[in-house]
Formats: sequence, C-alpha cells, structure tokens
Amino acid sequence: MLFAGIGPEGQHRLLASRATIVGCGAIGAAAANLLVRAGVGSLKILDRDFVEPSNLQRQTLFDESDARDALPKAIAAERKLRSINSAVSIQGVVADLRPQNAEALLSGCDLLLDGTDNFETRFLMNDFSVKSGLPWIYAAAVASYGLTMTIRPGLTSCLACLLEPGSSARTLEETCDTIGVLGPIVNLIASWQVAEALKILAGRTEALHGRLLSCDVWRGHAQSIRMARNPQCRACAQHNFTYLEGEAQPHITLCGRDSVQIHERGRALDLAALALRLRPVVEDLRQNDFLIHFRVAPYDMTVFADGRAILKGTKDPAVARSIYARYLGA
Ligand SMILES: [Zn+2]
Repeated sequence: MLFAGIGPEGQHRLLASRATIVGCGAIGAAAANLLVRAGVGSLKILDRDFVEPSNLQRQTLFDESDARDALPKAIAAERKLRSINSAVSIQGVVADLRPQNAEALLSGCDLLLDGTDNFETRFLMNDFSVKSGLPWIYAAAVASYGLTMTIRPGLTSCLACLLEPGSSARTLEETCDTIGVLGPIVNLIASWQVAEALKILAGRTEALHGRLLSCDVWRGHAQSIRMARNPQCRACAQHNFTYLEGEAQPHITLCGRDSVQIHERGRALDLAALALRLRPVVEDLRQNDFLIHFRVAPYDMTVFADGRAILKGTKDPAVARSIYARYLGA
C-alpha cells in the first residue's frame, strides 16, 4: 500500500483478484510465492507432475519431505502457500491441461500465468486467452537464459504472432531436462512476470511496459524489445484456434527427458484398490492420497487418480502403452 504504483486502492483490487498459474515447476513456484505474499485474492495452481529430489535446486516452494512423499506439485504448493498466507484462497489442482478441460480449468479468473515447460501447453493457453479475451503472461527459462512477455488479447501481440510461423517453436528442443537451468534465472523471470501480474490485478494497466524482456544471467545480457502484432496471425487475427480445438491430440506425449505421459483413460481410478493389486507384482511401490509410484525394471511408473500415468525410462509410445495395459488394464 505504501508503494505509490499500487497504493491502498490497488491493494484492495489485488485482494479481490483471481489468478491461475499453469504449471508449478521453477517459474510457477516462484510466481506463486510472490503472488500469495503480495495478497492476491485467490490463486489456482494447475500441475500434472510430482516433486522429485532433482527439482529442489530451483523449485523454491518444495522441500525434501515433499520429494520423499512424492507429493503432487499442486498439492505440495497449496500446503506451503497456505502456511505463508492463510488469507489467500488457494486451490491446487492435479491435472494436465488439455483442449478437453481448458474451459473448465482456466475460466473464472482474471489472469493466467505461464509456469509450463512446453510449447504445446503454451499455445493452448494462448488460444484460450485470445478466444476469451483473458490476459496471460508468457515466461520461460532454460540454462542461464529466460524471457517473458505479457499478452493482452486485442492490445498486444500474442504468442502465435511471436513464434508462428518461421522460426517455429518446434525447433526449440533444448529443455531444462536436457541442459539444465540455473535457479537465479527462473527467479528473475518469475519476478518480472509477477511485477506485470501485479499491475494487471491491481488495475494499473497503464504501467505495463508492453515489451518482450529477455536476460542471460551468466553472460550479463538483457534485452527489451517492443513486439508488433502480426496482421496475418493464425490466432489473434484469423481466430483459428488449432490448439484449443485439439483435433489431433495424442493420447501419449513426451514429457521431459526419457519419459512419456499416457492419457488412455478419461475416468478416475481407485488408487487404494490398484495399490493392493499391484503390490505383489511390482517393486518399490509407494502411495499417497494422490498417486501410486512403482518400479518395473528398467522403468518407473507414476499413476495419478485421474487415470494418467508417467512412465520414466523410455521415449517409445509402444513400450508405454504396453506397460500401461499390463499393469493398469487396457
Ligand atoms: Zn497473434
């Protein structure tokens, strides 16, 4: 309230605002922490994955006990954030954002923040944003480099203006899983992202800088570029929402290094019954209220209550389908 850019009126608006973070890895966790401490009214956190020890170097909301318990990131984040500011309404949702559930998961808020690690999901968020007029803030980091841009449909360029066509996002194959990412860059990018979020949620949109910011903390470079809208843009000019329509969404998708995610089922699993059945036939079975984790050498499988599974140790969809069918049924 003392900061002139926000003031008492801006703080009151912030307290009544609703934000959704899609993906709670390094950037999502840092952004959630800043938003909850700033006093956002309500925050929804979507994430499809669970906490592992290798996340802790950069994912600042989680600790060793979360990794030991293999808690879903959405649940671990919800618990930690409640202990930071109990006045904020916080909802962790363990789910993978898909064209089929985008409307249900993303509507009813004032702003979306990007905490994802892949362009498939970002383009889906962009389509939803442009179609519904909801602003979102793109943010990404890999190695020592990161970038962020605020997208306000009809007012600024969108992600498709920026990345389609030409130097397509599909060529960006390096990820945090293959070449790593430094803790400082994700926290810096999340800070820039949340500063923009506070301007929107506090009703101070005149303060938005309207630029694509990028930075490399290792080389000491920073850039600020004003982006023009593409008058031919597939999304914001032609209203062609190919990702949201998702006609060709595969049931099996690559997910990080040497892992595949399987979406064969669209219905809930009884995890307790499944654990009883699997315990005699698999190794190292661990379970909590949200998932079952087990080993079928040389693979590690994690099964979520919504029927989704992540198989580590292969990139081959046929192997993933076969293991899923063997242990969970076709
Ligand atoms: Zn566009």
